[in-house]
Amino acid sequence: MNNIIYHRVLLKLSGESLAAGTGHGIDTERLNQYAAQVKEMADAGVQVAIVIGGGNIFRGLQGASRGFDRVKGDQMGMLATVINSLALSSALEAIGQPTRVLTAIDMHPIGEHYSKWRAIEALEAGKVVILSCGTGSPYFTTDTGSSLRGVEIEADVMLKGTRVDGIYTADPEKDPTATKFDRISYDEVLNRGLKVMDLSAIVMCRDNGLPIHVFNMDEPGNLARVMRGENLGTVVY
Ligand code: UDP
Repeated sequence: MNNIIYHRVLLKLSGESLAAGTGHGIDTERLNQYAAQVKEMADAGVQVAIVIGGGNIFRGLQGASRGFDRVKGDQMGMLATVINSLALSSALEAIGQPTRVLTAIDMHPIGEHYSKWRAIEALEAGKVVILSCGTGSPYFTTDTGSSLRGVEIEADVMLKGTRVDGIYTADPEKDPTATKFDRISYDEVLNRGLKVMDLSAIVMCRDNGLPIHVFNMDEPGNLARVMRGENLGTVVY
């Protein structure tokens, strides 16, 4: 693949998108489709680190609304990200792409404990690095986890693969007059209260100059297009 504009990326995938519309569990076809797109990047020499959510299995807030202790619920959510990370790792390895799963919570032998240097060492060795458990702390989300990891590993960009094709003035599924931004500043996202990601994730990226590229990852080929700098999705700068 030619004309790649990024050297090292942090790709955030939501757990929910792994469920491919069913809301729950892991859709193997979707998983394999993601793995194929990621391998294409790695084959082209891009260093790819991935943070995957766990919303297809469990979210701490949902648990809290049903009477669970919030911290335990969040720990369940973090464990859900580990399940998804292992699934993605397995799908990548099955197509010949070496991976390394690093966990923010000690979980030997499932994965080694995360450190910036372990992650970079594996990236430089050509492995796709999957960073699980988000930040490792409750009351956060994997969006914040990916902004933190993206900054830590000195990624060029945080790619947020979603099921919508960018950031709109309003929810396009509810408001037919909503229009899409090609580019938007961090502050405008915050001032307009756009629900792109958690505020803490946006602020983390803003304060550390990590651009965010939001795009529809469910359209095969889009990840490659983003890597070539094509005008799709929305860039937050
Ligand atoms: N979580 C957490 N700390 C983190 C990241 C995640 O406690 O740093 C928990 C939290 O309960 C969250 C769940 O893990 O709801 C799954 O992550 P997330 O909701 O971000 O997944 P996604 O929406 O991306 O599928």
